[in-house]
Amino acid sequence: MKNLTKDRPVLVTGAAGYIASWLVRYLLEAGYSVRGSVRSLKDQSKTEHLLRLSDQFPGKLTLHEADLLKEGSFDQAAQGCSVVYHTASPFIIGKIKDPQRTLVDPAVRGTRNVLDAATKSGTVQRVVLTSSIASVYGDPADIRQTANGVFTEVDWNTSSSLTHEPYAYSKVMAEKEAWSCWSKQASWDLVTVNPGFVLGPSLSKRVDGASMGLLLDNLKGKYKGGTIALYMSHVDVRDVANTHLFAGTRPEAKGRYLCCSENINLLEMAQRIEREFPGKFALPKQLVPKPLLYLAAPFLGRTWKFVTRAIGIPAPVDGTRCTKEFGFTYRPLSETYRDHVLQLKADGLVSF
Ligand code: NAP
Repeated sequence: MKNLTKDRPVLVTGAAGYIASWLVRYLLEAGYSVRGSVRSLKDQSKTEHLLRLSDQFPGKLTLHEADLLKEGSFDQAAQGCSVVYHTASPFIIGKIKDPQRTLVDPAVRGTRNVLDAATKSGTVQRVVLTSSIASVYGDPADIRQTANGVFTEVDWNTSSSLTHEPYAYSKVMAEKEAWSCWSKQASWDLVTVNPGFVLGPSLSKRVDGASMGLLLDNLKGKYKGGTIALYMSHVDVRDVANTHLFAGTRPEAKGRYLCCSENINLLEMAQRIEREFPGKFALPKQLVPKPLLYLAAPFLGRTWKFVTRAIGIPAPVDGTRCTKEFGFTYRPLSETYRDHVLQLKADGLVSF
């Protein structure tokens, strides 16, 4: 890819989402004109923070209605753009009635729609896909199949399916679809960003995202009786958004970038929040023993397979390709949690 001029706009799909909102902000700060796609222009509760950004950067941000499941929906917004950042995809964890319709169709057909729009535009030179660490592995137990006991850019999730970890399945199928679309054309190159579990302050007051839900549930005492030893690689939303910015604007960026800081379990996360805000929240102080989890799993919408293949198994990820090539260091998670809790307080979503 040649050096990108700032003469052409860039498109961010799902612009009102948690990660995308930071990306939109960083793109505007870097001088790009941004087109943001949202599902509904009428629902201002979802877009008010983008409307504020549009006031701060006059004439630089426009919003466009588009739906992942409507063919051709992104064509107009992609016309004349140099880069497409495709972040939109349903992020829902837990029990889902119809995972094909709720998760896989919007993720896979949506990716095809957006990438077709990039091809039809004739101007797009690069597509950055927000994939996920879930496209790299499904269950922590998959670590046993890795060469060196750590997940890297060469690994692919082969353990998820429609009936086992369907969100992870939707992400790996969407990334595969993206690489397949890329291989059938020659006008744009593809870079994927594969974040771990994303936390950190939100630019909006939305609480419908999975990241926000998990933190709020912890702060509000949902797990005060005990939490689970589920290991995830946490990462700050600002680092994830910056990685997208680099992935879309550095000509040499290529392939997959795992964007993951520390691999910790949910009790360790609670302990670190407790250190930042001692005694302020009813956070979990202990782990629920694994045998008890087998008993409780069916009532919590979880399976025995999940307990066997996920609980108590660290799943380290090598997230250094990103930091080495793009020249940054991950924020410490203490800062991520502190800033996130302070944002929730400032927005009236928690009180202490
Ligand atoms: P989010 O705030 O829920 O954002 C998801 C976005 O997708 C929203 O803007 C939503 O639009 C859009 N979307 C969902 N279904 C759509 C449809 N049918 N048509 C058009 N847009 C649709 O979640 P997020 O955490 O920022 O996630 C953004 C991306 O990062 C997703 O691809 C997710 O898989 C990936 N990811 C997230 C994490 C994490 O920990 N948060 C980790 C790894 C990867 P509305 O604004 O209209 O609701």
